[in-house]
Amino acid sequence: MIELQNVSVRYPNGVDALRGVNVTINPGEFVFLVGPTGSGKSTFLKLLYREERPSGGAVYVAGRNVATLRPGQIPLFRRHIGVVFQDFRLLPYKNAWENVAFALQVTGAPRKVIHQRVPEILSMVGLTAKARCLPEQLSGGEQQRVCIARALVNAPPLLVADEPTGNLDPATSLEIFQLLDAIHREGTTVVVATHDAAMVDRLQKRVLTFQNGLITRDDHVGGYDQEQVDLFGASGAAAGVPVAEAAACG
Ligand code: ADP
Repeated sequence: MIELQNVSVRYPNGVDALRGVNVTINPGEFVFLVGPTGSGKSTFLKLLYREERPSGGAVYVAGRNVATLRPGQIPLFRRHIGVVFQDFRLLPYKNAWENVAFALQVTGAPRKVIHQRVPEILSMVGLTAKARCLPEQLSGGEQQRVCIARALVNAPPLLVADEPTGNLDPATSLEIFQLLDAIHREGTTVVVATHDAAMVDRLQKRVLTFQNGLITRDDHVGGYDQEQVDLFGASGAAAGVPVAEAAACG
């Protein structure tokens, strides 16, 4: 699914964001990227969806060498990758349904497909009742669930998320991580950069630690730090993803 061979990224200002990274992520894996701010996690993710290109080495995603993609090939390539950001980036004048539908419309999907797929995916993220709400009428966690629905509506095999819970409180963060875990269990490869140590410790997935542009730790079932923390915390059982609430927003 993902292979980086001796990858470096030097930004035009001379900063070496990645310095010889080698890693393979297989289809169906769930991988956390952790490490201090500025260690290269976002740059790593940007390589995957071809927002940045490597200065050296090779990056393969879904069978494609991303450095050799021509500009005209990038939109089609990106349909293989759903991307979720910390700051949501929803269209403010479109409601939840329209934000999700828009990601299908730009691919030229027929109306019939859009009307079938959007309700399915909104239901999956527990937002059926909020379909007509504008982003400003939704909580942070609900907005992030719209973003996840939008990222998944084209059924990409790979979902990448950059600090998806950076703006959310711990309880809402837990819902979002549980949703990402459920998506992973359905077969999607998931790569998440996060500072949320409690979630990394709780979910016990593969963890890549970045430091100063290098991957310095690759634990196949790990916690945020070297030392393991109480696996499931004091709160015990996992809370479910919220199901539909009362209809809202007309
Ligand atoms: P992280 O996601 O771990 O915080 P980043 O990949 O964002 O790390 O940043 C890695 C390094 O590259 C940092 O020193 C950062 O300041 C620098 N950097 C990131 N983006 C750019 C850019 N567009 N131009 C110049 N330097 C950048």
